[in-house]
Amino acid sequence: MAAHDLAKAGLRVLLLEREPLPRYKTCGGGLVGKAVALLPEAASATIEVDCRRAGLHLSGTGLAFTAARAVPIVCMTMRARLDYALTEWAVAAGAGLHDKTRVTGVAPSPRGVTVTTDRGVFTAPLVVAADGVGGVSARAVRPLSPLMGPAVEWEITVPDAILARFSGTARFDVGAVPHGYGWVFPKRDHLSVGLFRGRPGRCDLNAILGRYLAELGIAPRKAERHGHRIPVHPGAGPFAAHGVLLTGDAAGLAEAVTGEGISGALESGKFAARAILEAGGNPQRAGRHYTHLVQTHMLPELAAARRCAGLLHLWPRLTEEVFRHFGQSLCERVTDVMAGALTWREVLHHAVFLRTRLPAHRQAGHRAGPGAV
Ligand SMILES: Cc1cc2nc3c(=O)[nH]c(=O)nc-3n(C[C@H](O)[C@H](O)[C@H](O)COP(=O)(O)OP(=O)(O)OC[C@H]3O[C@@H](n4cnc5c(N)ncnc54)[C@H](O)[C@@H]3O)c2cc1C
Repeated sequence: MAAHDLAKAGLRVLLLEREPLPRYKTCGGGLVGKAVALLPEAASATIEVDCRRAGLHLSGTGLAFTAARAVPIVCMTMRARLDYALTEWAVAAGAGLHDKTRVTGVAPSPRGVTVTTDRGVFTAPLVVAADGVGGVSARAVRPLSPLMGPAVEWEITVPDAILARFSGTARFDVGAVPHGYGWVFPKRDHLSVGLFRGRPGRCDLNAILGRYLAELGIAPRKAERHGHRIPVHPGAGPFAAHGVLLTGDAAGLAEAVTGEGISGALESGKFAARAILEAGGNPQRAGRHYTHLVQTHMLPELAAARRCAGLLHLWPRLTEEVFRHFGQSLCERVTDVMAGALTWREVLHHAVFLRTRLPAHRQAGHRAGPGAV
């Protein structure tokens, strides 16, 4: 996003990527409404499936709720295709691209920022760090990593009947893993199934995922297993220093309830470009402006999501009571947030766990009802 916007504005931009492109990225590939709204048309074309139903289940209790919308709630994509489409879009706007180029160090130097790679050294007045969780660039800005939650993702091939059972529905199972949840995302020809635990700690997620699949009656014909971490606590900033601007997972900008991080990566990329352009390319001003944009426009929502995650995951007995009494309402509100019709701040503010009604315009096109998936 940043490379595109900067190149389009006439700046000289070089994209560095360690993998050969297109590359697999461990991710459910679920695009929430906010992410879809940020995507250019070229990248929206990689959406394989629109889910207009969401299933919210509380593991081990039999409690299950479904919400349906006339608009997509979560759109499903594969990150290899989505990310490559975004890259091509940036290159078409004028950005240069070196894939198969691993960055090994990012450090301030008298001529700007020096980026050392396994294919040479580059210098630039500004670097937008988008190298994800544990990337090397973040170390140029701050010593501590953001708080991470472990997550696993299996890409599984299943018989057509099972694919059909999950078609059109994004399924979430709260409590499938302690302090977290499991998901089943239907793709065009397979299911992306995963677990996210919102706090660090030792836990055999692959073993739990195997049991989760068995409980759902899913026997994969083939499974590709992947795992990674999701950073859910970015701290207060700064998000830039010495001409390096941290975006996306490198800045810790994923949301704590679901681990959704694509919209934060897209939005922070746009903010990075905006800050650089509005600061006239001055590194110090760009860094301050960028930090301000992230602090003002992103952190309050991420903080609200962390509070919602605490309410949802910390006390299993309380969660069960909430599901028992307000399960459908909770399902509706989470669905609204995913579809982009509501924010986590609004969820907290209206205490919508308690059946608060939304203004009429927010309910347009909404249908609800109990369901099996
Ligand atoms: C199991 C799992 C499931 C998830 N599911 C979802 C989901 O369904 N929806 C959602 O919104 N979010 C999801 N997320 C979170 C989401 O994947 C991330 O928040 C998002 O990808 C962050 O984007 P990014 O561009 O900051 O980093 P990344 O997508 O991680 O991209 C970083 C890029 O930098 C490259 N790179 C890294 N180091 C170097 C280096 N040294 N030199 C050069 N290049 C380098 C990497 O190869 C990669 O291409 C999930 C995460 C996990 C782990």
